[in-house]
Amino acid sequence: MTTKDLPARKKLQVTGVVQGVGFRPFVYRLAKQHRLAGSVCNTSSCVEIEIEGPPASLENFIHQLRRDAPELARIDGLKAQEAQPVGQEGFAILESRHLEATAALIPADVSTCEDCFAEVRDPDDRRYRYPFTNCTNCGPRFTIICQVPYDRPHTTMAAFAMCPECRAEYENPEDRRFHAEPTACPVCGPQIWLEDQGRRLERDEALRAAGELLKKGKIVAVKGLGGFHLAADARSATAVATLRARKGRVAKPFALMVRDLAEAERLCLLGDPERALLLSRERPIVLARRREDAPLSASVAPGNRYLGLMLPYTPLHFLLFDHAPPALVMTSGNLSEEPLVYRNEEARARLSSLADAFLMHNREIQVPCDDSVVRPLAGEAAIPIRRARGFVPNPIYLPLASEPILGVGAEQKNTFCVAAHGVALLSQHLGDLDTVETFDYYRLAIHHFKALCRKDPRVVAHDLHPLYFSTRYARGLEGVELVGVQHHHAHIAACLAENRRTGPCLGLALDGTGYGPDGTVWGGEILVADLVGYFRAGHLAHVRLPGGEAAIRDPRRLTAAYLYEIYGDEFTLAARRLGIDFPPLEERILRRQLAGGINSPLTSSAGRLCDAVAGALDVCRQRTYEGQPAVELEMAAVAAADGCYPAAIRPGPDGLILDSLAIFKGAVEDFWQGTAPAVVAARFHNSLVQLLAAACVQAREEHRLELVALSGGVFQNALLVTGLKKRLEELGFEVLSHSLAPPNDGCIALGQVAVAAARRLGRERA
Ligand SMILES: [Zn+2]
Ligand SMILES: [Zn+2]
Repeated sequence: MTTKDLPARKKLQVTGVVQGVGFRPFVYRLAKQHRLAGSVCNTSSCVEIEIEGPPASLENFIHQLRRDAPELARIDGLKAQEAQPVGQEGFAILESRHLEATAALIPADVSTCEDCFAEVRDPDDRRYRYPFTNCTNCGPRFTIICQVPYDRPHTTMAAFAMCPECRAEYENPEDRRFHAEPTACPVCGPQIWLEDQGRRLERDEALRAAGELLKKGKIVAVKGLGGFHLAADARSATAVATLRARKGRVAKPFALMVRDLAEAERLCLLGDPERALLLSRERPIVLARRREDAPLSASVAPGNRYLGLMLPYTPLHFLLFDHAPPALVMTSGNLSEEPLVYRNEEARARLSSLADAFLMHNREIQVPCDDSVVRPLAGEAAIPIRRARGFVPNPIYLPLASEPILGVGAEQKNTFCVAAHGVALLSQHLGDLDTVETFDYYRLAIHHFKALCRKDPRVVAHDLHPLYFSTRYARGLEGVELVGVQHHHAHIAACLAENRRTGPCLGLALDGTGYGPDGTVWGGEILVADLVGYFRAGHLAHVRLPGGEAAIRDPRRLTAAYLYEIYGDEFTLAARRLGIDFPPLEERILRRQLAGGINSPLTSSAGRLCDAVAGALDVCRQRTYEGQPAVELEMAAVAAADGCYPAAIRPGPDGLILDSLAIFKGAVEDFWQGTAPAVVAARFHNSLVQLLAAACVQAREEHRLELVALSGGVFQNALLVTGLKKRLEELGFEVLSHSLAPPNDGCIALGQVAVAAARRLGRERA
């Protein structure tokens, strides 16, 4: 025997997404395969492995550990330490241990896997038609976890004692359900039922009756993974109209859940990126181009050439489709702008005026989580529009490490973020924080997140807007250090951070409205920024927001504001030529606001420019949801039209001024010449791309920066983001955009923590 063959022992610490994903049984099987002794154990910060055996086998084990990890696992760190061999025999899976350290990462919810799907479809399987079938490779995670480490007693499945058969699977390392924490079967697990006007139906009866109600055009509240949906037959004009009326939702598109991929193909033109995203284990809502002849009620997504589609992601959903119409509107179970309903009692109380019946179950949802929304782009990563189920709480790695920091986010499309040691956990989309209910939900969610990652940050980063609920929340916290971060700086910082960059860069921050430190409303900004700080290097030309908020809600007012800047007092004549006729009183008020600036702040917002053009072309003159004019303007544009409206760039007191007024003027005059709105809309997009690219070239000369970061809600627009990226790359720039966090205000919290971390690091070094 040579020393080479003497047994060695190693202690491994594996970090990343390694709990609740079948990692320990994988380690167990691997150790057996290499005839190694030792143990594996979950701690609150990592998975710990001790292995003992011939050195060559240890090396092979470690190699395979990285290479063959389970599909859902993600190894971010593997630390190996030599240890003293103890002559151990056999390999054991030990109980979880609590350790105060960086949090282990919690897995996101995963759609039903092929194996479980097959069992649910197999009449001979004991889980035949069981709506809660799951295994180590699939099922609920984030939405049922009450605390870490992730073990069954720490989930809402603690209420269900396993039957002997489930217990045997759970304890058998060779079984697919070994330590599958939410595992269940019809004997021991959760059950469904239908509540319909006083009658109560169980199990399969419930599904059949729910399907029948949907076929009759009724609205059924369906409890899913992260909350309740309101479901209705997407082909029935009456059902969809009833849902809109009851929900108080005028025109905002509804998402659909369709029976299968074939049904999705019937409704939309799908390419490979769309199919891949629809079938991905995250199962987000995928925005896809609708077929002209799609058999759907027109009011599912009025004015929109796209549909938001998703495939069933739990057995409950696909069993429902055995009886229901093949395409269902599946919209969040709430009144417009209120938080998602996720508890049975709450559903009965708050959804009774919306739903005709309730498909319920008794597995508690610990933390509500909406469906995610993504927008595929040809040849590039999809744009996350709403990041929630399936993606949360996957970590986003920051380019720098820090002590724990909380970013409280913005006001609309709120998310918050907890970061520590270079790992950022961005919360699920929580919606707009402007009601008491959402604000309560927000506080609850923050509390829950802190518990899950075992952090109570003493540094809290917030927006500069004094009236945001999130800002007020931050300012109300005791014993914390506050870090104020300007809104558009946070946008650019988020884009840098998710790309693991620190800058400096040219940041194009284009969105609706954000608090500018100079008293104007920002939203069309070129910043020179790194994570620590920024200054303004340029912006779109100013116009007034006549009536402030009122102008944001009414695109015609923005059209008038632009016309005023161009045609002065004649603006009403110009408006009339566009078919916009303000009543005399409104016209008088507008004139006063525009001339005198009363309650009419100046804005450089790109979103508002889109509103003005959408209003001028009569693409959208009535806004019923945030971002509608810009969405419809993009939808109106024909893809192939060329030509653009020239616009100059001139120096101003606050960096370059990009003459967006000239673009607006070009568009309006082109329209007056009789050019089709679809062509004008396309040329408008081309013009904005040209103007922004030209401004980047000028800024590059002045500031010597080749890196450009794109952020802000306007970059949900595929024409702008792909057009601008292409143009900038042709000009030799390196361009960063969002693929992990949404470009809209859903990324603000991430940017806030990145800025706070960078500033504190800078202070430590100083
Ligand atoms: Zn499974
Ligand atoms: Zn069971």
